[in-house]
This record gives sequence, C-alpha cells and structure tokens, in this order.
Amino acid sequence: MKLTKALNEWQGPFYSYEFFPPKTDAGMANLHSRISRMSRFNPLFVSVTWGAGGSTAQSTFELAAACQNEYGLTTMLHLTCTNMNQIVLDDTLEKAKAAGIRNILALRGDPPRTTEYWADSPTEYQYAIDLVRHIRRKYDDWFCIAVAGYPEGHSEGSSPRYQDPKIDLPYLIEKVRAGADLIITQLFYDTQKFIDYEKVLREHESGLFELIPIIPAIMPIQSYQSFRRLTKLTHAEVPPSLLKKLESVKRDDQTIKEMGVEVAVSMIQAIQTQTKGRCRGFHFCTLNLERNVAFVIEKSGLLESVQKYRERSSFAIDDSAFT
Ligand code: FAD
Repeated sequence: MKLTKALNEWQGPFYSYEFFPPKTDAGMANLHSRISRMSRFNPLFVSVTWGAGGSTAQSTFELAAACQNEYGLTTMLHLTCTNMNQIVLDDTLEKAKAAGIRNILALRGDPPRTTEYWADSPTEYQYAIDLVRHIRRKYDDWFCIAVAGYPEGHSEGSSPRYQDPKIDLPYLIEKVRAGADLIITQLFYDTQKFIDYEKVLREHESGLFELIPIIPAIMPIQSYQSFRRLTKLTHAEVPPSLLKKLESVKRDDQTIKEMGVEVAVSMIQAIQTQTKGRCRGFHFCTLNLERNVAFVIEKSGLLESVQKYRERSSFAIDDSAFT
C-alpha cells in the first residue's frame, strides 16, 4: 500500500521500523524471526536501508520484498542515487514495482568511505531531488516518495560547522515541490531541535509543510559504543546532561539499555505534547534489535493508543497491488 494512502486511512498514532539487511545468512534468518514477531505490534510501515552506491542492492531488495509479501507489511525501500550504476537504480525501481513495494525513500547517499568530503557525483544524480524527479517522471504517482529532513542541519563529511537546517531548507522545499509526499528525519537526541524544526516547517510561508507528514526518527540507545559511533556519523548533538549520565554507566550494558528506553520514551512524549498532535508517528531506527523498541513502544503509551485506535477504526490491509 502507498504510505500516503495508509496515512489517510489511519488517522491515529503510529510507529514504524527501520531495518538494515544483515551481511550473513544467519543474521538474515534471525532478522526474519524478529520481523515476524515485531510485525504483531502492527507497525504502520517498515523501511529497509540501502548501502550507498548500491552495495546492498540485492539484499535490500530481497528483505524489502519479504517484508511486503511474506509479512504483509507496508514497505518502504531506501534508495540512494549518487555514485550509483543507472542500471541498478532503474532495475531496483522496476523490481520494487513488480513486488508491490509502493514506497521509496529517495536519498542522495553519502560519498564512498574512502572520500572524507563530498565531491560531486559523476552521474546525472547530484542530489536527492534528481532521484525524486526521475521517479516522478518515470512512474508518475505510482510510488509514494519520502525524503530526508535534518532537524540539526545536514553535514557533509566531517565539517559540522556548515550544519544549519536553514541551509537545507531551500533544497527541502525543492524536493517537496518535485513530488515528495513525506519527510523522515535524521535521528537526533536534542528533542528541542526537532520541535523547533517541525514548527519552522509548519509555519513556512510557502504553506508546503502545513500538512505534509514529518516523521521523527527515534533510535533507542542500545549500547554506549554504538550510540557514540552513530551520533558521530550523523553529527547528532548529544545534550551534555545525557552524555554525562551515559558516561557514568558506559560499561554497564544493561543500565545503558534501560536509560536508552527512558530517553526515547521522554523524547516521544515531549514531541507528542509540544507538536500538539501534529506528529502522529515515530520511525524507529531499530538497528535490527527488538527488545528496546518493544519497551519504548509500550512504555511511551504508543502501543496502547495504537491498539485503541485500531479497535475503533476499520483499517484493513490493501492488497489491490496483487490483484
Ligand atoms: P540531499 O537532499 O540531496 O541533500 C544533501 C546535501 O546537499 C545537503 O547538505 C543539502 O543542503 C545540499 N543540497 C541539496 N540540494 C542541493 C542543490 N541543488 N544545490 C546545492 N546543495 C544542495 N544513506 C544511505 O546510504 N542509505 C540509507 O538507507 C540511508 N537512509 C537514510 C534515512 C534517513 C531517514 C536519513 C535522514 C538519511 C539516510 N541516509 C542513508 C543518509 C543520506 O544518504 C545522507 O545524509 C546524505 O548525505 C544526504 O542525503 P539526502 O537525501 O538528504 O541529500
């Protein structure tokens, strides 16, 4: 189902999961069991990441197709466009269409690992907008297109001094004008930055962001090491009070995980209150892990409110793509 349609029909609170394709068969088998269990919590959709340059093209597609067809989940395939072989890109879109995957997160992608700073891609795809345009040109409105948003600003390579959401805003406007249907944000830990970002977008004079879904990404902290690595990679600022708390227990994995649940729950509750219901849903960067995400969904009240809404509504899975 197209996520735009699901979001229209499902006017209640929701959550969604992001998975990445594991490298080994054993890892993939484990993930399948997890997805099967996690799908019982009724996520509105799931997304599957794409290795920059197409490095995971095959496994991303296979996992996404399984989510869509084996588990009956509304599925979004991440797709990057720079440094990508045009044949792989077009082939992936065709295969996604044939598999009934109707949602694409259209991204630029990062430079290859060997390049510290961004250098223009040699192909016709320099930015995510080029992919948005390509998909709309070729497939009209068959796909729902999501694009990335950066509450703290997007940063190239290791130069955070250029990070400012105001710098990206004209390009986000272009992406929406070119046909993006919704925005999923980069992960963050400074909740106020997301709240301010959402407000700036909603109040933007263009009116473009008044109603568009803006879905915050939430990554429950799973371990001190992965937290430090991922916040460094994404240039997410860590509030000093949070860092201090985490550092005091950094060798105690269990306590870190419990703190991670607490932090994510309070972020969700603050966003729900301060965006006055405009943010109905949260996209969980699961890191393919199950327990903490389940705890967060439960402890934040999301699970209960989704279940209550489900009982009141007559939401049904649309399988028209296969008939
Ligand atoms: P763009 O929107 O193209 O923006 C990139 C930069 O260029 C920004 O600094 C912007 O201000 C600037 N810019 C945009 N247009 C122009 C223009 N016309 N002229 C000048 N400057 C411009 N990466 C992966 O490899 N695989 C994934 O699966 C993946 N999933 C992601 C999921 C989410 C929710 C997010 C937020 C990011 C994800 N990324 C992923 C990372 C993403 O590919 C990188 O952050 C990448 O550096 C930027 O992608 P973008 O789509 O935001 O790019």
